[in-house]
Amino acid sequence: MGFSPPAILILGGLLLIIVGSQLEVRRRRRAEEALRKSAEELRIAGEHDRLTGALTRQEALSRLRKEAAAKQSYALVLSDMDGFKEINETYGHGEGDRLLREIAGELAPIAARYGGELARYGGDEFLIWIAGYQIREEDPLLADVNEVFQTVRKSGMNRGRLFASVGAANAERGEAAEDVILCAEAAVARVKGGGKNGCLLFTKKMRQEELEAEHARARVLSAIQHDGFYMVYQPQVDTKTGKLVGFEALVRMQDGAMGPDVFIPIAEKNGWIRTIGRMTTEMTIRQIRAWRDAGLTPPPVSINYSAGQLGDTEYETCLQELLARYAVPASAVHLEITESLFIQNWEEASAFFARIRGLHISLLMDDFGTGYSSLSYLARIPVDVVKIDRSLLTTYGTAQGESFLRDIIGLIHDVGKTALCEGVETKDQYELLEALSCDRIQGYYFGRPGSASEAAAAMAQEDLFPKEEGEKA
Ligand code: C2E
Ligand code: CA
Ligand code: CA
Repeated sequence: MGFSPPAILILGGLLLIIVGSQLEVRRRRRAEEALRKSAEELRIAGEHDRLTGALTRQEALSRLRKEAAAKQSYALVLSDMDGFKEINETYGHGEGDRLLREIAGELAPIAARYGGELARYGGDEFLIWIAGYQIREEDPLLADVNEVFQTVRKSGMNRGRLFASVGAANAERGEAAEDVILCAEAAVARVKGGGKNGCLLFTKKMRQEELEAEHARARVLSAIQHDGFYMVYQPQVDTKTGKLVGFEALVRMQDGAMGPDVFIPIAEKNGWIRTIGRMTTEMTIRQIRAWRDAGLTPPPVSINYSAGQLGDTEYETCLQELLARYAVPASAVHLEITESLFIQNWEEASAFFARIRGLHISLLMDDFGTGYSSLSYLARIPVDVVKIDRSLLTTYGTAQGESFLRDIIGLIHDVGKTALCEGVETKDQYELLEALSCDRIQGYYFGRPGSASEAAAAMAQEDLFPKEEGEKA
């Protein structure tokens, strides 16, 4: 049976259409495949750092957030190089890039070995995290990471000063990724603060400490912003007569949550001490005015001045303005300056002393004997009173130590200054200092720091010798 020519034509056409459409389908599939592949490549490229091949910071964060959402626990190790910037600047970016690639190349297999992932978290920061892993204090993983940097350091001529600070943290189930990273960063910061080059696991205890520190910081700041301080005044007496010769103004926090030995260092660390310094100065001068208005004649009140206030170059102007505003003479206040300030910033400090003396305000040296205690500079310093630290009294206020205290007091006298001993609590201590010719005394024996009205009561007394039992008014 044969086909008629038109039928052949029709069949041929159909065949062509079928083959053609199949070709079309295949071509479309191929195109689609290519598209998908390139999208995948793009996606992978977006997830990976181009230089090192590690995951990017974005990707790391997004994956860690997913771990948190899935309530998955994991361990995190963050490494931060010390000395990378120098290598980049001295030997060029080519060398810097090579170094980063090498480190990523060493870290990636470690991450893989523990079943974790590696990301380049910042310029020279790498992050490894391992799902379901609990890192321990002496974890081999930390040793392995440390080893990488040692190997890399030794592999290049210019890398002698390259070190890494490594911080680790464990994520609790569901804990926000950002919080866990913060812990690892805090661990890195501690390693750096402790002289760099090392590993540290951020423990629960450290986290607790950090939280408490943050809490304390917030409270101090709030006190600064909401007038949350007041002053107390501790008497200073003449050793022989027991008469009141001065007060030390000491700051307190309104809510009593912390003592000044805690909040003053916090303020110093956070750059708030200048503000506090001005606040305590104003409160004290305002109080002197109030006492005077009440018909009292307060002895000089010494205000504590912290080393951190040296940068407050307008402090003297502020002090002068306050004295003028409250009509208080310069002789009514003294400034108490810690020994370390004399030593650490001699140039700056002596310029400051000159300006203070220009205002006719007396200086006291606080905490004598706790710092450097070179006695040679004592003569050069324009202070009128030297305060012997309490620790010297507790250490040397015994029969054996007595001669040392005698020498110190003698030395203060030799350079023409007044000796004041602080922290005198007992009759024995008082009698010893009296025998050693210490001029003045401050301490619980004569009076604790008290309110403005308690200070006023002290002003009214003939002397401040403690009353024997039965003698009390
Ligand atoms: P500091 O200047 O050495 O002050 C003396 C500290 O010894 C005061 O503690 C005082 O209450 C305490 N003290 C006095 N007598 C005795 C005693 O007989 N026995 C014992 N155990 N302690 C005694 P406070 O008020 O807690 O102040 C601690 C530190 O906080 C001060 O040491 C000073 O460095 C700082 N500070 C206090 N008030 C201010 C302030 O207004 N400004 C600045 N910058 N620092 C302040
Ligand atoms: Ca003081
Ligand atoms: Ca002191």
